[in-house]
Amino acid sequence: MKVRRIAVAITLALLLGCGSSATKFKFNIIPVEDEWQLGANLARDVAHQVQLVNDAESLAYLRDMGTRIVAQIPPSNPTSTQTWEFLIVRDEAVNAFAIPGGHIYVNTGLIKSAHNASELAGVLAHEIAHVATRHTTQQMSNEYGISTLTKAALGSNPSTYQQVLAQVLSNGALAHFNRDQEKEADDLGVHYMFGAGYDPHGMANMFRTLLAEQKSRPNAVERFFASHPLTEDRIKDVEEQASKLPKKTNLITDEQQFHTVKEKLQ
Ligand code: ZN
Repeated sequence: MKVRRIAVAITLALLLGCGSSATKFKFNIIPVEDEWQLGANLARDVAHQVQLVNDAESLAYLRDMGTRIVAQIPPSNPTSTQTWEFLIVRDEAVNAFAIPGGHIYVNTGLIKSAHNASELAGVLAHEIAHVATRHTTQQMSNEYGISTLTKAALGSNPSTYQQVLAQVLSNGALAHFNRDQEKEADDLGVHYMFGAGYDPHGMANMFRTLLAEQKSRPNAVERFFASHPLTEDRIKDVEEQASKLPKKTNLITDEQQFHTVKEKLQ
């Protein structure tokens, strides 16, 4: 009897819990291991379709920056223990994007637009936060269904896999994020940047750089703005989040290596 009552209580709790979007978010998603498998396959195919930069120094710089930011993801988050990759695409469009499984791509156009290291770190932290919060995977799980997506990840559903690949290649990003997801990625990204030792104001500064680019050459930022809606209010929010953090000395706003890389990518 007692066991039955507990079972009823658990069932009720689950039913009630599943009604909230937060609970749904956690369960309605493919497992992290499958996401990473899917990411590894996609990255291999993306490499044949885009022009990746092979310069070891530039890649090491980006990887180092990305790894420092990823190290801020709490250990309880299953993405924190996975391997992340940071790649540079030879493309003048000012864009950065994440595909499943912790593969973050930054275009040469974005690195050239960034004025300093903390602006680049701002975009990286934002993209990393989208993956850590599993926004991209959430959108894909909703779109394709979890079991279909899992089969695609494991290679037993080639047609869905090809659809996902086509989506990555045509959009330069998988998801069009909503305002709540953008805010979450901004807020988390600011904290990750700060923890990694970068000036967290760099994110708002990069967003201002992107808005300025939108005025001077709208085509170059079209893809970024399509997947990450950006407004003055949002930039103010990011600035406020950064200002709330405790004062810390030696935060990196800029570093010589960033400019060396930028020069090399011209
Ligand atoms: Zn975003």
